[in-house]
Amino acid sequence: MKEQKLSCEEVHEHICINLDEDLDSPKCRAIKLHLNECPDCVSYLKSLKKTIDLYKEYPSPRPSESAKVSIDEIIKKSHLSDK
Ligand SMILES: [Zn+2]
Repeated sequence: MKEQKLSCEEVHEHICINLDEDLDSPKCRAIKLHLNECPDCVSYLKSLKKTIDLYKEYPSPRPSESAKVSIDEIIKKSHLSDK
């Protein structure tokens, strides 16, 4: 399987659908590569994380713990985490 460039839309879509996917999967690596070059997607990810944090204050519906961890990890591993 070859690494491919992702569009912003693909990144957003994949993050929404597969929040708890293994961070070392090829798709996730491609997303992290994209995030290193794309401040737009980093801020999208951060707002998504904020949304998940909000949801966590309610008993239901509740995103999985792993979803939150994945987003934290992706942001942490992005070089744009402070933007
Ligand atoms: Zn992007």
